Amino acid sequence: MKEDIKKIVLDTLSQISDPEIPVVNIIEMGMIRDIKIEEGEIKVLLTPTYSGCPAMRQIEDDILFSLGKKGFSDVTIETVLSPAWTTDWLSEGTKEKLKKYGIAPPVKNSSDNIFNIISTTQTVNCPFCDSSNTDLKSFFGSTACKSLYYCNNCQQPFEHFKCH
Ligand SMILES: [Zn+2]
Repeated sequence: MKEDIKKIVLDTLSQISDPEIPVVNIIEMGMIRDIKIEEGEIKVLLTPTYSGCPAMRQIEDDILFSLGKKGFSDVTIETVLSPAWTTDWLSEGTKEKLKKYGIAPPVKNSSDNIFNIISTTQTVNCPFCDSSNTDLKSFFGSTACKSLYYCNNCQQPFEHFKCH
């Protein structure tokens, strides 16, 4: 019974996309750490991908709304900050989707954390033509989570998902 509920909850959550990256859902992004079902109450353990991302509020609203539509009214969302989200949690398939969407997937793993946050000189390959002849145009792209790059080879702007 509990497993059935969990499956419905997971199915429902897999319909919710990341508001910033509509091609991936919040499960693919590794945001859902666990689902606990106790006495008809559902607890969703959620890890934000980027601290301070305004998208988190929308994701929480989407979770409550979607589960509410399925008849789950007693839902709480618990934010889990530790361990912190890392791009290591993205599957290869998810990174591929990000790339097709035109977002250069993270190349470094989380151990390079500090380097990636402060560095503006790292080489980022263009997601369209794989050229490394790219320039950082703006450290902050459409959101604080992404940087804006320009490919000098195929002359297209693209966004790079900052590594965490
Ligand atoms: Zn290019």
